[in-house]
Amino acid sequence: MSGTAGFRDPRYAEAITKEIKFRAKGKQLRIIHVCGTHEDTISQHGLRALLPEGLNLVAGPGCPVCVCAAEDVDMAIELARQGHIIATFGDMFQVPSTKSSLAKERVKGADVRIVYGVSEAVEISKKNPEKEVVFIGAGFETTAPTMALELIRRPPSNFSILTSLKVIPPAMDLLVDIEGFDVDGFITPGHVAAIVGTNAFQSFAEKTKTPCVAAGFEPLDVLEAIRMILVQLDEGRADSENEYTRVVRPEGNIAAQKVLNQAFRIDDAPWRGLGIIPKSGYFIRKEFAEHDARVKFDFPEIESIDLLPGCRCHEVILGMVDPVDCKLFGKRCTPMDPYGPCMVGHEGTCRIRYENVDV
Ligand code: SF4
Repeated sequence: MSGTAGFRDPRYAEAITKEIKFRAKGKQLRIIHVCGTHEDTISQHGLRALLPEGLNLVAGPGCPVCVCAAEDVDMAIELARQGHIIATFGDMFQVPSTKSSLAKERVKGADVRIVYGVSEAVEISKKNPEKEVVFIGAGFETTAPTMALELIRRPPSNFSILTSLKVIPPAMDLLVDIEGFDVDGFITPGHVAAIVGTNAFQSFAEKTKTPCVAAGFEPLDVLEAIRMILVQLDEGRADSENEYTRVVRPEGNIAAQKVLNQAFRIDDAPWRGLGIIPKSGYFIRKEFAEHDARVKFDFPEIESIDLLPGCRCHEVILGMVDPVDCKLFGKRCTPMDPYGPCMVGHEGTCRIRYENVDV
């Protein structure tokens, strides 16, 4: 296949779906993906409708702003209230926290600016040397290297990052450890695999006896990844395989891994509604402490609340309920007025479901 159009060709989709149906016949299977972009592809192209009845394709914790702990958002809000310039991705801007959001703080007069990347935030700090500029660094392995690189380049002293960076494999560990949570295969996120490599998931696949396949983001990528998982199950194997060969290498991106290791250390991190997951977050190393907002600024004791009453984001994130099972879905909670974090960004499962069902 060449070009994107080839990855949407209905003839290939039909052939792959036929094999999926054959291999899944008479079985009850649960395949989970951990990527908001995969959920977007699946919902937009109606892929679930192509799958046999017993094959359940579930969305897991794959949206960076959905899993950003309320305490991190509350810290960002506190810094905005202290009068610093806050630079943030658009998704994070609207994320509701304990009592407010960055969007609401801007309405009240805080200097909160939406940027497309960390380098734009560094430029703001150069143009405003009299002010502190704090970049809200939420994301996974995919976006973390750009932040690491800016730290290594030594930005101006008035620039810092409030990290809320998560590492995906430990969240997969959490899922398989949940009692009664059966999963037969993982579609691993292609962009995360591009950084860490498919080798990074091999020990997980072996240890949990769960096939893993890194997939791209076109409809045929997702269908082919499902087919590859079913082949592994039929052959009694559990390996980390690569469907996204046009981008992902087994060893990943070594240069990106080097900058990540240079700027960040890995430690236990809070995930929204899920509590602390061991070794699941990137934190700035002490060599770069002058750019670490967690070290640089004073924060009052904040009693953060991850889940506002009625919000079922923690269950949605774990793939245990469908967004439409939440009583607030499409009523109190909409993309125009999100009540929980899963309704905010384009990778949020509730938001994606809202945009693809008749509410
Ligand atoms: S619909 Fe809204 S309130 Fe309900 S789980 Fe999703 S984000 Fe939370």
